[in-house]
Amino acid sequence: MQQLIDFRSDTVTRPSAAMLQTMFNAKVGDDVFGEDPSVNELENMTAEMFGMESGLFCPSGTMTNQIAIKVHTQPGDEVICDKMSHIYQYEGGGIAFNSLCSSKLIDGNKGRITAEQVKLAINPTDIHKPESKLVSLENTVNRGGGSCYDYADIQQIKKVCLQNNLKYHLDGARLFNALVAKNETPKQYGEIFDSISICLSKGLGTPLGSVLIGKKEFIKKARRVRKVFGGGMRQAGFMAAAGIFALQNNIERLATDHLHAQQIAAALKNKDFVGEILPVETNIIICEIKGKYTAKEFSEKMKEQNILFFAISPTQIRMVLHLDIAKEMVEATVRAINKL
Ligand SMILES: *Cc1c(COP(=O)(O)O)cnc(C)c1O
Repeated sequence: MQQLIDFRSDTVTRPSAAMLQTMFNAKVGDDVFGEDPSVNELENMTAEMFGMESGLFCPSGTMTNQIAIKVHTQPGDEVICDKMSHIYQYEGGGIAFNSLCSSKLIDGNKGRITAEQVKLAINPTDIHKPESKLVSLENTVNRGGGSCYDYADIQQIKKVCLQNNLKYHLDGARLFNALVAKNETPKQYGEIFDSISICLSKGLGTPLGSVLIGKKEFIKKARRVRKVFGGGMRQAGFMAAAGIFALQNNIERLATDHLHAQQIAAALKNKDFVGEILPVETNIIICEIKGKYTAKEFSEKMKEQNILFFAISPTQIRMVLHLDIAKEMVEATVRAINKL
């Protein structure tokens, strides 16, 4: 049987032998006491990379996002974000559940919102209205097919935030994909946002973990909220060591995933059962399936060849590239597509 080629998500990666060895050798301690040297190193290293003051290691990106929202808001406030945002669509209603906040959803361009849209979404000072408190961006946008912001647009939104006393959060689950694709630096992002959530378990390939970064005072509050959310971990340094390894070894290679996504998208483009393909900017392909297959039938056909991906709507499929997809697997996938 041909090996499994798994495009369902970039979360399916398994730690490499070298990463496992680093984890095995990690120095650890009780991180709730602040005594885990590997966790401290990962938190400091991430903050420094972005030119920010402090970091907080958490088990998931959902937790880092939700902690940030909790710290930036008070019950009854409103969060401004795109309608497709992970924080709104895929975090179990956490904005309402954890922070007792409402969401003002913006109809952006493949998940990207503009300063003009943010301006219009801000509530006037009026006792009838929730207080607009926080703007949250996602970069890259998962549901936008891995779309990236133009940095100038991020700067424009920052101006609106400053003028209106709004906090500015970035869900950077795949921020390194955007940095590599756009040739940008972490410091550009660190200097503009009040908080950034970075996932280590997606393109960077660790078993778990996300880091929240921001100012010292912000992270101090975030650390308390992490405990309340049940995210205070003990000898978490084994996992933090994987994160350190990932930041040192797995960033530049994201360009390979982007290239692979282009190669598969090119094969899809030739098929008459493939409709619109969202612009492939990073490691995600989202395309429309029409005519002889439904999205589900196409995914089932490919599954017969041991190629896995999800139909994310009746008419769309999503494929995600990552570090466990080798060149040969991309070639096998292209051959399988060509045969249909
Ligand atoms: C994966 C992801 C997260 C975090 O998800 P977890 O599974 O909780 O780590 C957050 N935002 C985006 C855009 C994501 O794709």
